[in-house]
Amino acid sequence: MDCTDGEAPSFTPTQDAFCPAYDTRGGSGGPQCSAHGDFCFFCEYAESPADGDAVGQLKALARELAAAKKELPIIVSAVFRAYEGGVRQSIEWTDNAGKVVVAPEWSLDAIRRHLTFSNEFSGLFHNTVDHIFQSLISRLNDTVVDRETGLVHDEHRKALVDTIRQYSAWERHTKGVTLSSRRKK
Ligand SMILES: [Zn+2]
Repeated sequence: MDCTDGEAPSFTPTQDAFCPAYDTRGGSGGPQCSAHGDFCFFCEYAESPADGDAVGQLKALARELAAAKKELPIIVSAVFRAYEGGVRQSIEWTDNAGKVVVAPEWSLDAIRRHLTFSNEFSGLFHNTVDHIFQSLISRLNDTVVDRETGLVHDEHRKALVDTIRQYSAWERHTKGVTLSSRRKK
């Protein structure tokens, strides 16, 4: 089609044009650990009390900081320092190409990925969604009033009120989840 004739090109994409939000085959779709080939200590090792349980200790550290509502970058960096300081030197890892790596690096990105998207730390994902909503609300709030005329910009006001409404629904949902999991205990 000639794109210079002023009309927008129109086409129907095939299935190949899309990829899954979460790839259950461990492919490259999605933000979770299995979509990346780099080393993840929490994916490679399970908790084992007989083994000094470095995994359990690092997970407890992440949960403790999450319960104290620390921000994700602070938790990621605490886990990173704990791994570097006390665990890394005792680890050997065979990568996807079969090469044995002594003392593999567990990168900040890989730690953040596991903490956010593994479902083991669902509280951290909830905290992240809270931060996204709060950031959106704060940015939208900054754009509501026209600085020149002092009039309310209606489209921006609607987006702000709509986001606050959706955030309230999200808060009610997460509160409901917490209460029902407490009731089960
Ligand atoms: Zn992982």
